[in-house]
Amino acid sequence: MDSADTLRLLTSQMCFEADGEPVQPHATPSCFSPKERDQTFVHPAQLPNGQRIMLLKTLLSSVCERDCFYCPFRAGRDFRRATFKPDEFASLFAKLSAAKMAEGMFLSSGLAGGGARTQDKLIATAEILRGKYQYRGYIHLKIMPGAEKDQVYRAMQLADRVSINLEAPNTERLARLAPRKMFFEELLEPLKWVEEFRSTIPAYKFWKGHAPSTVTQFVAGGSDESDLELLTATAWLNKNVRLKRAYFSAFNPIQDTPFENKPPTDPMREHRLYQASFLLRDYGFDLEDLPFTHESNLPLHTDPKQARAQMYLREQPIEINKADKRDLIRVPGIGLKGADAILRARKTSRLRDLSVLRKLGIVAERAAPFILLDGRRAPQQTTLF
Ligand code: SF4
Repeated sequence: MDSADTLRLLTSQMCFEADGEPVQPHATPSCFSPKERDQTFVHPAQLPNGQRIMLLKTLLSSVCERDCFYCPFRAGRDFRRATFKPDEFASLFAKLSAAKMAEGMFLSSGLAGGGARTQDKLIATAEILRGKYQYRGYIHLKIMPGAEKDQVYRAMQLADRVSINLEAPNTERLARLAPRKMFFEELLEPLKWVEEFRSTIPAYKFWKGHAPSTVTQFVAGGSDESDLELLTATAWLNKNVRLKRAYFSAFNPIQDTPFENKPPTDPMREHRLYQASFLLRDYGFDLEDLPFTHESNLPLHTDPKQARAQMYLREQPIEINKADKRDLIRVPGIGLKGADAILRARKTSRLRDLSVLRKLGIVAERAAPFILLDGRRAPQQTTLF
């Protein structure tokens, strides 16, 4: 097997790992078709700073000694496995980068010989790329379950981003998905180490003078958890370890795994979880602000901000000329920039008309049912059907 064959095998199932901006509903990343498998190494990805790059997402090895119930790489599953040595992969990636075929790298691995040994290989790969090949582009390194604290620090010195996948929101749920993973010791503790290093070590000691961002991923629907459980974990991580982003990967059954007959998760659930996590992170929503159903899930048919507004704001509309920013951004159609524009415009005149809001970048028709303009209900378009 040559390097290209090895790379094909190792990239072919990486659709389960997320980086960059979350996907839109119904565009859930699917694993490559056999034809695509023969051609595709890299994916277009948009980084959090808006930059678009061609990202190579790969494993260093698909050999794994663990047996997580949902995972295509689990021990004992019969498929063709492959492994790169660190110098072999670094050399190949340096060539792809020089040929402008890949502009960034997301490197993970199956576990072989324990977490610390596997982490050493990921770190060695990044060290060769940064040192021998003087590669200055984007590197996202996975922190392996069982990695040691000094390895986490070393990975942070080499990478633009590090990730530790929690997979499930708590110990009980993780036991249903991955019985040999330890939620606190192997997953949560390293996330805390990352934040400890980030807040105590001067920035110049990290790659390009910035501590890397941290992300995690959950298998949405894999452990029959509720949205409330997933978002409670997300809110805790946002606050306590300054998580850049939680990714939600809708569960999809894999053949020849214990979960092969478990029904897949509706991709819309993944989308609603992203919307709710943005409201928690960027809009200052609390968990109590989210419109959970009696089963502690988000409604699938409408976005969480709209659903909350239907529940609370129809009867108690927001006065556009008086509300503070926190209340303004709870109105559908008013985003962070729109709320700032309203606050600025209010300094010079009272806002009495939807057309004025439109000029400020507000989606006025969405906002209309939930606002007052100078004490009066805003006119609403009646729908024909
Ligand atoms: S440890 Fe990772 S690669 Fe191995 S079976 Fe579990 S999820 Fe899959």
